Amino acid sequence: MKYKVLYRKYRPDDFENIIGQDYIIKTLKNSIIHNNISHAYIFSGPRGTGKTTTAKVFSKAINCLEPVDGSPCGKCDFCTNFHDNPDIIEIDAASNNGVDEIRGLIENVKLTPTNGKYKVYIIDEVHMLSTSAFNALLLTLEEPPAHSIFILATTNIENVPITILSRCQRFDFQKIKISDIVKRLKEICKLENISIDDDALEEIAYLSEGGMRDALSLLDQLSKNSDKITLELIEKQIKTISQKGISDLIQTIEDNDVDIFLNLINEYRIRAVDYKSLIKKIIDVISNKAKNYKINGQYSRLQFDDYKNIVLSLADSLSKTNINVDSYTILEMILLDYFNTGKKVDKFNVSEEKSIEDVHETKKNNIVLENKQSKMEDVKTENEINDNLEKFIKIRINNCFVDAKKTALEQAKKDLKNYITVSNNGKIKAILEDSNVVAASPTHLILITNNKHNVDMANKMSLEIENDLEKENISKYKLVFIGEDRWKEEKEKYIANLKNKKGYVYMEEKVLESKTEINDVFDKDKVEII
Ligand SMILES: [Zn+2]
Repeated sequence: MKYKVLYRKYRPDDFENIIGQDYIIKTLKNSIIHNNISHAYIFSGPRGTGKTTTAKVFSKAINCLEPVDGSPCGKCDFCTNFHDNPDIIEIDAASNNGVDEIRGLIENVKLTPTNGKYKVYIIDEVHMLSTSAFNALLLTLEEPPAHSIFILATTNIENVPITILSRCQRFDFQKIKISDIVKRLKEICKLENISIDDDALEEIAYLSEGGMRDALSLLDQLSKNSDKITLELIEKQIKTISQKGISDLIQTIEDNDVDIFLNLINEYRIRAVDYKSLIKKIIDVISNKAKNYKINGQYSRLQFDDYKNIVLSLADSLSKTNINVDSYTILEMILLDYFNTGKKVDKFNVSEEKSIEDVHETKKNNIVLENKQSKMEDVKTENEINDNLEKFIKIRINNCFVDAKKTALEQAKKDLKNYITVSNNGKIKAILEDSNVVAASPTHLILITNNKHNVDMANKMSLEIENDLEKENISKYKLVFIGEDRWKEEKEKYIANLKNKKGYVYMEEKVLESKTEINDVFDKDKVEII
């Protein structure tokens, strides 16, 4: 006996077995009960959601001699001979743009039906029709013969001309719910004597993305290769990660367990897990966590913004998977940003982030430090952030030394003192009160502060501080903060260079805005003290 694939074998031939489209089915049945049938329908929706099946059952029901409550009776001559019925005409627009078929249709459309009440034209993937085919179809839809009904189906409704849409009654098919797919798969497994674990059923339903046809194809494929379908079998054969695997991965971020995280990613890499489906699953789980956060408040180490940013970065990474790099590296880099390994530069808190962004608006030429909010596409690791900060410090120290003078130092000290007395900005005042200017040029100041944390924070706030200085009518300096030890080193280098009559060359800060330019500059050693 010829093997019939499951999705054909279990294709519903009545409304009752079409799952997940209850509203549409109810409306169609009502139109039959009340004899209120349109001449043109368009069924839109994702693949495998039952558009063509519904079209067929509907065309059977409208011709059925004794429909029962809007459904085909399944017994009359028309119902029993449905599959060979010349009055039901199926056209696949995807196969050849349909020009010939549509022409044939137009010639044929005037003829009365051979058996039933209506001639039904089901045009699948109608968006694929060529313009001339659409035009021909439109002429027919404008004045359809009383005995003809058109059912157009499409996965891309946006590609169907509005002139066509406006003549059709439209039904939007939804993705089928996972629970509905699971239920149906369970029934079929029972009928087919397929042994399958419950979590494997769920996984198949999940992988099929709301399409019954894909779910059944997967079930088909898996059942042929094994006596029992388990989650492990699916992971192995489909090269996917189970929902539990995804939860485990995300748990490592919430638990801040970077070692296990890196091991898991490496395992996916070795198993060549399908990247896109992996990312889609992570996005699903993380976005649910983000929603949960908004409903129930914070429940893990991560904030709402963390979840949100992960989702946006991952979605963005999907469009970059064609570039010739290991996709897992991208995933790794995006997610590593959310681990706190103790070596990290403290992230801005919300208000700081906002103020830094505001400053950026007016200071586009200035250095750009870490700003995750506005630079989602940048994959930044802690190292990169540290690198950027280090470049920033190097350049500013260098630029201060280009024209460092004792008089400038005295002036700067006065200026900062002045600022502290007039300013209302407590935060900036606190930073400056905790700092000492140790070198100055008319444009640049080097300040030392007490501990590492203050150094990092002060540098990140430098733009804000500079703007506030200017606002208070004190000259606009560029500031750099360093620790005492670093200053000792820099001072020694500076004095040695002065002794050896080596000068400093001014470096453009603008280059910091682009990573490639930074590399250019640094690779060529142009910027080092000479
Ligand atoms: Zn019937």
